[in-house]
Amino acid sequence: MRLSQYFMPIMRDMPKEAEIISHQLMLRAGLVRQSSSGIYSWLPAGHRVLRKISEIVREEQDRAGAIEMLMPTIQSADLWIESGRYDDYGKEMLRITDRHGRDMLYGPTNEELITQIFRDGVSSYRDLPRNLYHIQWKFRDEVRPRFGVMRGREFLMKDAYSFDLSVEDARRAYYRMFTAYLRTFARMGLRSIPMAADTGPIGGKLSHEFIILADTGESEVFCHADLLEMDTPDIETDFDGDLEQVFNAWTAKYAATEEMHDAARFEKEVPETKRISARGIEVGHIFNFGQKYSEAMNCRVQGPDGKLITLEMGSYGIGVSRLLGAIIEASHDENGIIWPLSVAPFHVGLVNLKSGDSVTDTACEALYADLTSSGIEVLYDDSDNRAGAKFAAMDLIGLPYQVVVGPRGLQDGNVEIRTRAGGEQQTMDIAAAKTYLNEKIRDGLTVQ
Ligand code: ATP
Ligand code: MG
Repeated sequence: MRLSQYFMPIMRDMPKEAEIISHQLMLRAGLVRQSSSGIYSWLPAGHRVLRKISEIVREEQDRAGAIEMLMPTIQSADLWIESGRYDDYGKEMLRITDRHGRDMLYGPTNEELITQIFRDGVSSYRDLPRNLYHIQWKFRDEVRPRFGVMRGREFLMKDAYSFDLSVEDARRAYYRMFTAYLRTFARMGLRSIPMAADTGPIGGKLSHEFIILADTGESEVFCHADLLEMDTPDIETDFDGDLEQVFNAWTAKYAATEEMHDAARFEKEVPETKRISARGIEVGHIFNFGQKYSEAMNCRVQGPDGKLITLEMGSYGIGVSRLLGAIIEASHDENGIIWPLSVAPFHVGLVNLKSGDSVTDTACEALYADLTSSGIEVLYDDSDNRAGAKFAAMDLIGLPYQVVVGPRGLQDGNVEIRTRAGGEQQTMDIAAAKTYLNEKIRDGLTVQ
């Protein structure tokens, strides 16, 4: 992509309305714009990141055996009356009346709708187990939308719903999602910690929130420091292995959100030097809620003996749009964002130090064409801005690699490669630069 033909409105000055760094950087780097309180438009570069995050989520859901579908944003109130949640949900639910006077709502979550679809689509124990998910916009009329996309009113969520015949099967479904979540966040460069959580209005028994430690997080959390060092489950042991072991290993050490925190237990179980009491961002939340919805909504199948079985259910959410904020909170410096390669809007920023100079232009064009044709995503700054402004913009938008091309280096056939994360600068000839970038990017995108 050529910057001269792109749309990435960069702001030099600090936006006054943004309280936390990720929100400031998302506005300054031209990723999002607020269209009304808690509701955002995703500008092209922000949309690219959102798509990449969605794709990682999708790959790991698929790997865990969940099946993708798509449900609508607008739902009928009838279903929610059936489950008993229409009144419970309160003011966060955006209620709408259509032209025929029917009560509708903008879905804040989808337990009711999926339960209806599932119960109407299956009749036998042979159709189980299943886990269905979608990645869809949700609306919650939050009292205090803030921190940009972190607590929006309209936000993108991945929500999966598992259906099982027995309590043991449902626990296995829970372990699969638990494992998939650890992998999903690790692939975005995040260290997530599963913490025992309250089940809230979704209801149920077993529940974990996946938390990223960050000073600007909204939740107060407590955990054992060893959880920061644990290995992420890999594909081999993942879904063929014993997932209960993964679950047990990750839940053996103390980790709880404020609502579930037990100060006495924390002090007893965790040595003083290992006690972390911090703030965190909730990026995912999983629940096993047994028969809460299947009972209320009559979601049953016929068992092998002909008797009806009420299904065991769970639901599993990821805050896809919130993750942009969480990743930036975890990865930035005073100059801007530092995107992990896996979710960066582009892999490489190509900086032409002297647009209009034929030698420099020719070298840049050739490099742009070569890198692009080998599958590397390049944002080419072909504008005639000053070098200083170009560097500042590249640092702000945080692409993992910058290639700087100018007449002086080209006299010796050289370009400069800068790594955004470590700040290293290396000079090399053009052929070596291509090889270097191809290897780094291929290795960096390989999923372990
Ligand atoms: P919170 O405690 O932050 O309000 P929640 O418990 O209401 O979240 P869930 O119903 O578990 O959220 O939703 C699943 C995920 O969706 C959350 O883990 C979070 O990452 C994301 N999410 C929830 N509310 C919002 C919001 N207002 N804006 C952006 N993401 C959100
Ligand atoms: Mg929650």
